Amino acid sequence: MANYKVSIDPRDNCISDMVCVSICPDVFEMNPDDNKSQIIEKWRPDPNNIAVGIIPEDLKSCAEDAANACPVQIIHVEPA
Ligand code: SF4
Repeated sequence: MANYKVSIDPRDNCISDMVCVSICPDVFEMNPDDNKSQIIEKWRPDPNNIAVGIIPEDLKSCAEDAANACPVQIIHVEPA
């Protein structure tokens, strides 16, 4: 099964509207400290980088829906 890379970049531009979390809570969550979106921990290849995840194919379409809906277009999904 193919994997996909999801990134939130530039994460600083997140306006905290939780659209991505609403659409795809299996990939995105809000960071309680800065109230911006982050990748949930289980998908982070680098535990110190909260803005990058490697997700399985079955989550690709919801991550893409979130990317398309993000009002500031900072979510990117690409083959890993
Ligand atoms: S949809 Fe975009 S702006 Fe909204 S919380 Fe997610 S990353 Fe931030």
